[in-house]
Amino acid sequence: MGYEQGCARWAMVGWPMVAGEPVIVCPFKCNSWRCERCAPNKARRWFNIALSGARVPGRIRFITITTDTSKEGGQYEAWIGQGTRWNRLRSSLKSAGYTGEYLRVLEATKAGWPHIHLLWRGAAYIPQRRLSELADKAGFGRICHIKRADGAEGYARYVCKYLFKAADSTPVPFGYRRACKSANWPGPEWRDDATAPDPYYRWDIMRWHADTVAAGIAADGYTVTTPRQQRRDMERGARDAG
Ligand SMILES: [Zn+2]
Repeated sequence: MGYEQGCARWAMVGWPMVAGEPVIVCPFKCNSWRCERCAPNKARRWFNIALSGARVPGRIRFITITTDTSKEGGQYEAWIGQGTRWNRLRSSLKSAGYTGEYLRVLEATKAGWPHIHLLWRGAAYIPQRRLSELADKAGFGRICHIKRADGAEGYARYVCKYLFKAADSTPVPFGYRRACKSANWPGPEWRDDATAPDPYYRWDIMRWHADTVAAGIAADGYTVTTPRQQRRDMERGARDAG
């Protein structure tokens, strides 16, 4: 059927409640960092979020947090520990009086170890030694950098640079959120362009390419249509009737 929109790696299939109506196959994007069609779109979206937060006047700092490889049993442990450590560090920063909003990007070094880049918006000054202490206590490495991000656009670019890497060229393990932000980071909210499903259909998500799904359903003897085609047919029907 030649779906152009998104990667169409998955399909949303609408089975009609009324017999004789066509089955609707909607292309559905997989939204994975490993997909060569979806990853650049995600990177662009995160860059825009970083940028719009960075443009709001106020104190912004650029922070790098590293892994101490001597503390780790191996890379696998280093990766699975990231979330817990980050939560620990965030709450210890908060209880030390350093409150703020952040945008965080998870990166891998060439050797495959995780480290974190952050844009941090918060009024309180965080001394580097204090940050290093807290990072160490949270389970990260002692080595960390913090500096004022004057010209925040450049830092937004730097923080997000890793996200633009070729989809399959990074050692970030499967299933990791490479970018995330605190709830109040200023900027556009994440919008998904999926339209509300039609209630006269039962909707399934099928994890095959939309073309494959459409061909399979057609081979079973159903009439298959796309959302766009269905809309056109309905408009034509209304015109002919009127
Ligand atoms: Zn995709």
